[in-house]
Amino acid sequence: MLVNHAGPYVPAIIDGISYRPGPVAYHGTDDHESVWPGRAVVAGDWPRPRPEECSSTYATQWLRNGQILVCTGCGLDCS
Ligand SMILES: [Zn+2]
Repeated sequence: MLVNHAGPYVPAIIDGISYRPGPVAYHGTDDHESVWPGRAVVAGDWPRPRPEECSSTYATQWLRNGQILVCTGCGLDCS
């Protein structure tokens, strides 16, 4: 997939993956890691309700045979 870094990120269309609507301001309660505009949260039962309430203690995990990388705390697409 081509990513145009001049504009907002466009989430990949992947079978079985759906995204929560709404922008992400930042990632992590302490770090406030910057998140590229357009980055989306994969819908799922994550320990943290939103990236803004997540923490850097969570690892990342590839889903769908390596098609998408998400934070295991909040489901933020980190691909
Ligand atoms: Zn997270």
